[in-house]
Amino acid sequence: MESSSSKITDEIRAEASRLLSSGEVAAFLGFVPGSLPMTVRPFVARSSEDAARLVWNSFCVMNLANYLPEVLKSVEPPRGPGDPEPEGPLPRVGVLATGCWSRNMVVQIQENRIQRDRVVILGISSRGMVDRKKVLARLGGREALKVEEQDHSLLVSGRAFNEEIPRWEVVRDNCRSCVHPDPVIWDIMIGERAGDRQNANRFAQVEEIESLAPEERWAWFQEEISSCIRCYACRNACPLCYCPTCFVDDSRPQWVGKSIEPVDTAIFHILRAYHCAGRCTDCGACESACPMGIRMRLFTKKLEKDVLEMYGAEAGMDPETPLPLSTFSPDDPQDFIVTGQESPKSTGDEAGRSGEVSQS
Ligand code: SF4
Ligand code: SF4
Ligand code: SF4
Repeated sequence: MESSSSKITDEIRAEASRLLSSGEVAAFLGFVPGSLPMTVRPFVARSSEDAARLVWNSFCVMNLANYLPEVLKSVEPPRGPGDPEPEGPLPRVGVLATGCWSRNMVVQIQENRIQRDRVVILGISSRGMVDRKKVLARLGGREALKVEEQDHSLLVSGRAFNEEIPRWEVVRDNCRSCVHPDPVIWDIMIGERAGDRQNANRFAQVEEIESLAPEERWAWFQEEISSCIRCYACRNACPLCYCPTCFVDDSRPQWVGKSIEPVDTAIFHILRAYHCAGRCTDCGACESACPMGIRMRLFTKKLEKDVLEMYGAEAGMDPETPLPLSTFSPDDPQDFIVTGQESPKSTGDEAGRSGEVSQS
């Protein structure tokens, strides 16, 4: 029986081919198979022939919102410095979007990185993507030469072995806790919308760490990042990390050392997570890109939980709702602000006062 991924692949190819041949879009951003089993790579189709190469499967873990601004630029007419703005509407680009990718596109629209009217979004309700590292761990060193995807299992074969792995057991952690699998913005829907998922425990991994004593939490954090090689694959995979010069690459001033010295590594992870606060849509692309298996997504998940609890906001759910940390309301919680006044939580004793900060 044909799997749901193959049906979606057929529909993507048909729609991308139609959009390209009719001239509705100048390019279409999707995936083609990678060179190894269980991998795909982003691909820009520019013709119907290219569209026939597109695929959809459980290994489409890269967030296409990351590549969209560059592809949009690539279809604009060439322009030198000082040249006038081109007349008329600029060419459009087609792109695939699941729930978290579409929310990421909303964030980028709100941050003026993407113009909504230049994008034709093919929405897909996500069934969750598979974590290649979990599959490799199950294989225990045996090499997978072929992986066939069925709706509820993966059939993995290699030299002298065949193994069937239940799909849900190897789905990525972010997808297992996802409650918004449907795109929030789309132009053409591929397949049915699934509706929000009930998951009372979506912050379970974060709560487990929150329950530790502060020194245990710090030890957990240091252990988690101890194998980081500072390759920045996590940063490069994230659509929200688009600063022309990242703070880690600055040399004047040099905010953070370039080595894998533990303090430098900790600063990188803490600052990057905070730069994504209120913007991260838990797409998991950072974690999927990490060659060392570091679960840096848990840092942004903690901030996602805090932002939800403090501001009642989830990034990218609605293009009309400003990002929680880029707006101000007098009703915002402000216990963290050092004012010199007693905080609302103060008990009146010296230890309970905010503002007791030495200015030496
Ligand atoms: S880590 Fe911060 S400075 Fe670096 S690219 Fe990401 S958002 Fe920009
Ligand atoms: S920080 Fe990670 S999970 Fe969050 S948007 Fe970026 S790549 Fe996705
Ligand atoms: S991808 Fe992994 S190893 Fe590379 S910088 Fe990020 S956390 Fe460190």
